[in-house]
Amino acid sequence: MRTPPRVLTVAGSDSGGGAGIQADLKTMLALGTHGMSVLTAVTAQNSLGVQGAWELPAEAVRAQFRSVVDDIGVQAVKTGMLSSPELVETVADLLAGVSAPVVVDPVGVSKHGDALLAASALDAVRTKLLPTATVATPNLDEVAQLTGVRVREETDMRRAAAAVLGFGPRWALIKGGHLEGDAVDLLTDGTEEHWLRAPRHDNRHTHGTGCTLASAVAARLALGDTVPEAVAAAKEYVTGAIAGGFRLGAGIGPVDHGW
Ligand code: PLP
Repeated sequence: MRTPPRVLTVAGSDSGGGAGIQADLKTMLALGTHGMSVLTAVTAQNSLGVQGAWELPAEAVRAQFRSVVDDIGVQAVKTGMLSSPELVETVADLLAGVSAPVVVDPVGVSKHGDALLAASALDAVRTKLLPTATVATPNLDEVAQLTGVRVREETDMRRAAAAVLGFGPRWALIKGGHLEGDAVDLLTDGTEEHWLRAPRHDNRHTHGTGCTLASAVAARLALGDTVPEAVAAAKEYVTGAIAGGFRLGAGIGPVDHGW
């Protein structure tokens, strides 16, 4: 009997099934791992945006985490929407006691412009959460929010990575997908530099890309990849998922996990 590697997502629910916990679990399954979830918040959400969000009590987050880690164990953890300073600090404390690799997606604002993290939580992300990360995966908006560095062209991404690494993650993956042209990301630990490039797909149905990428990195780390191998495989996965993104509802549809 084969027991697959176990991967834990600590994130919010997207009722529309495109992002958050739902995207994470689909990605983990697609990559041959067993996905588990610690729910931090519930969103009422669809292709048009976030209509409501309710955070869970820190005690509920702590209890879910302990249930999973103490019995089942984890080979990798991914964090997503953490909502408030209290939840960021709670999760950072829990992660400090885990030896598995941690992928931190410092989720700030959704594609529709809905805030998924309180501005008052940014400091806890910088000083408590990022130091626990094996890999941090900010997009350019999150880089600007966290570091003040505004990336306008590819060459600015080195400065952004250095600023993110300054908060303590082992690796920074700067996602340049919001720039024009090819989708270019920079992965670096301050010594090695890996540029990942994929042709841009002309597809507006990209809901859940960030969650999917971070979960794919975590799944591949759980399967035994090095960080550069995991990120390269995750980039390939998310590129395929974006190519297959499909229409749902009247707005922006989700990426596809069945490609
Ligand atoms: N909803 C939840 C619960 C999320 O965690 C995220 C992103 O991390 C989003 C929505 C936003 O997804 P997107 O910006 O891809 O539309």
